[in-house]
Amino acid sequence: MSDTNSNYYEFWQETILRIQETLPAQEYTTWFNRIVYVGSEDKKVILAGASQFILDTVIARYRDLLVNTLCELTGEEISVEFIVKSLSEIQEHKKGDPSSIVEPPKEAKAVQAPVKKKASPETTMKMKRDCNLNYSYQFSNFVIGDNSTFAYNASLAIAKNPGVSYNPCLIYGGVGLGKTHLLSSIGNHIIDNTPELKVMYVTAEMFTNEFIDSVGSNKMQSFKNKFRKVDVLLIDDIHFLQGKDGTQEELFHTFNNLYESKKQMVFTCDRPISELKNISDRLSSRFERGLNVDLQPPSYETRVAILKSKTEQRNSSMSEEIIDYIATNVCTNVRDLESSLTKLIAFSELLDQELTLDKTKELLGTLPSLAANANQTLSIDTIIKVVGDYFNVSSFEIKGKKKNKSLIQPRQISMYLARDITEYSTTEIGTEFGGRDHTTVMHSFNRIESLMKSDEAFTNTVLKLKRDLMNVKR
Ligand code: ADP
Ligand code: MG
Repeated sequence: MSDTNSNYYEFWQETILRIQETLPAQEYTTWFNRIVYVGSEDKKVILAGASQFILDTVIARYRDLLVNTLCELTGEEISVEFIVKSLSEIQEHKKGDPSSIVEPPKEAKAVQAPVKKKASPETTMKMKRDCNLNYSYQFSNFVIGDNSTFAYNASLAIAKNPGVSYNPCLIYGGVGLGKTHLLSSIGNHIIDNTPELKVMYVTAEMFTNEFIDSVGSNKMQSFKNKFRKVDVLLIDDIHFLQGKDGTQEELFHTFNNLYESKKQMVFTCDRPISELKNISDRLSSRFERGLNVDLQPPSYETRVAILKSKTEQRNSSMSEEIIDYIATNVCTNVRDLESSLTKLIAFSELLDQELTLDKTKELLGTLPSLAANANQTLSIDTIIKVVGDYFNVSSFEIKGKKKNKSLIQPRQISMYLARDITEYSTTEIGTEFGGRDHTTVMHSFNRIESLMKSDEAFTNTVLKLKRDLMNVKR
């Protein structure tokens, strides 16, 4: 953004001068005093307004005029991105020294209006707004690593040929590993390249809430029509549907309907379908029907690549030593890598200080991701030891085959805790418990969970052990 080749501020000033000449004064002030130039990137001008409403109106009425004038003045194919910023930030910019203008924050809701020849811009924009998609999640800014190549390739294939190759598709994996990013990239790619297709992105929670509302207000038919008339249905976080029987039933019918008419469906889930609880068999068999792909935590090399790419995107730089330190210590997921970077970059920018390794250690020491990361590396052996000590039985006995009453419960509690607080799969946990099957782990987990529902004293014991484990020094 600091690149002077992509600074379009002067062109922007000229653009609004021209527009001012053509519009009634009142109209001009109403809308153009409410938006502001906040920066530019390669062939893109970024404008901000204080609300989505203002932006929607400016986009609907003046977008073409803005883009055309900018293209004419610069002689380049310029696109315009609109973001929402707080009123105070807008006023700051209005006072404006353009060179001090900062990059729009990543979390700002971005509505980009690329110059497109295929669809009328209005259609593209409208669909973008309708389908709740975050436009900043694109294939182009997804860093591919060995943990995600398969999921990435499958997603791209779907986006290029919706309804054809992998239908339905399920992307599963832990929190912060890029499920929403990939799912949204599919949606954004389709809208940009095949705008005649109607894309719908919802989280399972939104789907559930809309369903409940429609039942309450007798609008079931319009709910059904809404979801059954799309060409591409993207539902994020379907684990949310656990235990929601009515919504599951409705989704089951929606699924069948879309499936029969060969409409593309993609779902995401935080675990493999077989590990979901309280999901009807018929619905889970639908989810498992097509392609199931997983996203694993990134390896060290991928973490380095992600950090480098994100630092560059933010126009910042960081020494190899610091990148190595973050990549070594934040191993949980990409979201945690991002928040580490945000914190470090904010520090060096705000205080205008060079970031040292010591400062990095100090700043990251307070990040929850480092604690979360520690949980992940909590070994199953440690869990068995802590639980065994509490019940006065040895690790050897817990892992062994004996079925004494005094051993069964500590064993089941250890399995429960292993599944609850670590990222290990049930198969891995089974292996650590003397080569037991993953179904035994699941059984123990369910058993402890149901005991906890009925027995308060027992619950307290389990929670105490869990707290102890969280505090174990590793
Ligand atoms: P999930 O939905 O799995 O919890 P998200 O898709 O929300 O995770 O990802 C968390 C954050 O990490 C997002 O800001 C996303 O853009 C980023 N992210 C995740 N994976 C990648 C990746 N491979 N490359 C670049 N950014 C990523
Ligand atoms: Mg998500």
